[in-house]
Amino acid sequence: MRMQRRELIGSTVLGSAALALSGCATATAQGGGAGRTPFEVQRVTLPIVGSDEVFPVRRIYCIGRNYRAHAIEMGSNPDREPPFFFQKPTDAIQYVAAGTVADHPYPPLTRNYHYEAELVAVLGRGGRNVPVDRALDLVYGYSLGLDMTRRDLQRAMGDEKKPWEIGKSFDRSAPIGAVHRVAQTGHFRQGAIWLKVNGQVKQNADLRQMIWSVAEQISRLSEANELFPGDIIYSGTPENVGPVVRGDVIEMHIDGLPNLSVRIT
Ligand code: MN
Repeated sequence: MRMQRRELIGSTVLGSAALALSGCATATAQGGGAGRTPFEVQRVTLPIVGSDEVFPVRRIYCIGRNYRAHAIEMGSNPDREPPFFFQKPTDAIQYVAAGTVADHPYPPLTRNYHYEAELVAVLGRGGRNVPVDRALDLVYGYSLGLDMTRRDLQRAMGDEKKPWEIGKSFDRSAPIGAVHRVAQTGHFRQGAIWLKVNGQVKQNADLRQMIWSVAEQISRLSEANELFPGDIIYSGTPENVGPVVRGDVIEMHIDGLPNLSVRIT
């Protein structure tokens, strides 16, 4: 990725419709202001299919336990415990071009490294307390991605009632494809989502099995945090998550998007 001058993402891309939704959305960062910096911080962007622009990623939100069967396999009761949110750092993104198999390094500290195949909604507008029936107005497009997880560390921290970060929020834990604009794809309410390891089907479900739809995800999330253009949401994974080891090739699919593939190295 190119090194570029650091910019306040979200301050320049709001249209009038977004302002109506966004409230006070003119500045995302409340830091030390403008001025020269002693070094550059890399901006994280994704290609936009059919465009010479790139999509600037502001925050990566993830939804936990958004498919019933996965919630059950993780040991929770989806009738009593609703889905919930966590985040990965923005620079956890690993962009994977369609038609390629990207090398994905096995991370340190884990002995149980899991895949989770997920639909990703990317936002072009922000808002706070967005009603469900307006939530899809915020969507710029969609992609597909892997919420890679150091499951042993996630579980150990959960057992100790400590934060999940070391299991979920580490370098390159968010492989993702290019952004497809909603005008090209429409919204994703149903359709196959599957994942293979070395050609063998591991996960195989339908997007309609999500407990919270994309619109509901956006609406709920906007109650907890003001959303901004550039925010992206990993929508949760279906059941049958499992481990990979070095040399394995993961291929994932969502109807209407090109497949995403990585090789664990
Ligand atoms: Mn996940």
